[in-house]
Amino acid sequence: MALQGVIDALKKQTLEEIGISFSLADILRDIKIEGTDVKLVLFSPSEKYYDFLKQKAEEALKPLGATKIEVEFTDQPPAQRQQAAPPPPQENPFEQRKRIPGVKKAIAVASGKGGVGKSTVAVNLAAALKKMGYNVGYLDADMYGPSGPTMLGAKDKQVIGKQTERGDVLIAPESHGIKVMSIGLLLPSEDTPVIWRGPVLFKALNQFLFDIDWGDEELDFLIIDLPPGTGDVQITLGQVAELDGAVIVTTPQDVALIDVKKGIQMFKEVEIPVLGIVENMSYFVCPDNGKAYEIFGKSKTEEIAKQYGTKLLGKIPIEPKVAEFADLGIPIVLAKEDSDSAKAFLKIAENVIKELSTQ
Ligand code: ADP
Repeated sequence: MALQGVIDALKKQTLEEIGISFSLADILRDIKIEGTDVKLVLFSPSEKYYDFLKQKAEEALKPLGATKIEVEFTDQPPAQRQQAAPPPPQENPFEQRKRIPGVKKAIAVASGKGGVGKSTVAVNLAAALKKMGYNVGYLDADMYGPSGPTMLGAKDKQVIGKQTERGDVLIAPESHGIKVMSIGLLLPSEDTPVIWRGPVLFKALNQFLFDIDWGDEELDFLIIDLPPGTGDVQITLGQVAELDGAVIVTTPQDVALIDVKKGIQMFKEVEIPVLGIVENMSYFVCPDNGKAYEIFGKSKTEEIAKQYGTKLLGKIPIEPKVAEFADLGIPIVLAKEDSDSAKAFLKIAENVIKELSTQ
């Protein structure tokens, strides 16, 4: 039996019955064909899907003449080497990295854990750079909590595909003058559980980064909003794309700072320069007496930045307006430029540019 025929049959076998909007081919990890014997290794996050997936595989392959169909399962998150078309092994895994087309400087915004304000910082950094007169794009690569497009008022924007000489591309829509794209658009429907969306993401990420039309004019900056933590998305990104720097967002608590150290370490490993740390929710200015209170305790971020050879790019206060305007789809930098947080974001944007120029 021909490999391509088998793969085509697996592609046609969708998994809609269990609420997953992709096919058996998307979760295929390994395949061996000997005559009419077929052995498959499929990704499944749980044993409860085993019988269903086996039956689906049989339905797909029996009509092709398969006599023996063996199915094994793995629940391991996909690594680079397990992808459908793995690149040839390299001595230096970063040699194959490519620049993102149409982008002068690509900057990742990362955080050790969720809820520290990573998307808020990413969106406002993009808005601050835009306000400074640069041509800016925002790419949401956070499949776990794609809140950035909402914060930019771009949640319901239409994305149109186009055929060009470099293949099929997606045209990034614009909001507040910022080009916006979200990995959410590529993934199977929002109802597909994250546990299933993961494998498709890894397959997609590689192409996605390089297949976006950011407009006729080159972007001065592309801000990439990463998922929280130090997982496979970050590593994959570091291996396929040449990024110019990373900004790590934290809150002042010790628990968040432990993750900052992990983040710095990871970016070192994937050879992406860390431009610095942004401390969010650093203090609260009481409107009654104008006094600043360090709600999460005395900050040690600057100390940690120094210890790890990087910088504190700035501190952002807790301001209810930040969240309120985010919900309305307007970054605080654009909504209220005289607020303390907007001023802090603009300063951070200046510091990011300064750091980039010294890399
Ligand atoms: P993450 O991307 O790290 O998960 P978000 O950027 O989504 O975090 O922020 C989490 C919540 O906290 C959001 O509702 C956001 O509006 C709010 N928030 C973030 N930073 C601030 C701030 N400086 N002041 C007030 N609210 C904030």
